[in-house]
Amino acid sequence: MSSLEIRDLHVAIHDKEIVKGLSLTIRSGEVHAIMGPNGTGKSTLSKAIAGHPDYTITQGDVLLDGKSILEQEPDERARAGIFLAFQYPSEIPGVSIANFLRAALQARLAEGEELDATTYYKRLYQKMDMLKIDRKFTSRSVNDGFSGGEKKRCEILQMAMLEPKFALMDETDSGLDIDALRIVSEGVNALRGPGLGVLMITHYQRLLNYIVPDYVHVMYDGRIVKSGDKTLALELERRGYDWVKQELAPAAPAPATVHA
Ligand code: ADP
Ligand code: MG
Repeated sequence: MSSLEIRDLHVAIHDKEIVKGLSLTIRSGEVHAIMGPNGTGKSTLSKAIAGHPDYTITQGDVLLDGKSILEQEPDERARAGIFLAFQYPSEIPGVSIANFLRAALQARLAEGEELDATTYYKRLYQKMDMLKIDRKFTSRSVNDGFSGGEKKRCEILQMAMLEPKFALMDETDSGLDIDALRIVSEGVNALRGPGLGVLMITHYQRLLNYIVPDYVHVMYDGRIVKSGDKTLALELERRGYDWVKQELAPAAPAPATVHA
């Protein structure tokens, strides 16, 4: 059983504070969804956890199994079991998916250790079968001319191969079409299990009809302002975010009555 604990996290970009004291603990086996309007810092949160150099953590901590990861480089965090699914994955023309994944796995081994081809392809094909991905797919170049759905398929396959403890999936602005939505949700549901914790960042309630979260959190202005179960997502779809903001606003003073 692993845990990823975000403790009173503050994150700044170019001296501007974006995440303003956010706390959240995810345990293995749990799927947490973070929802919230654009610009509230959802992507900033996931990038800061993964160790993106543009995002400065000014206060708070992120602990994996009780140990702070903030001093670790992004690749060390990845090796420790944190996977960040990119909203805009890079294209790598000339590098096949099979070779790319192999390099990614090789990079996680200790120096001098070799990933042998037989073991690798066995694992690759096993994961592809589980995710119902056509074998032809892995000979294509990474993200080169991929459709939105194919990029997602590549991302889910990476996740399956790397077997992270925690996956941070930021789906906010990617404009998931129905094909990509299906691939992501089927993939996550196939990988869901006692060894994986998921932080699903989305602004579409629709995605949560397919990936049913254990917990839903509303992020607003850099903080989690409301948490609940999956019914909270339905309420947000029905009522939007305004009522959450209104609940936060201090009660307006009663209008002054003018006495003659
Ligand atoms: P969300 O994912 O909730 O839509 P973001 O984390 O992308 O929100 O953005 C939060 C705020 O931080 C926005 O005001 C955005 O303009 C700003 N921001 C995000 N990334 C950068 C960046 N690399 N440089 C400058 N400002 C940024
Ligand atoms: Mg975003």
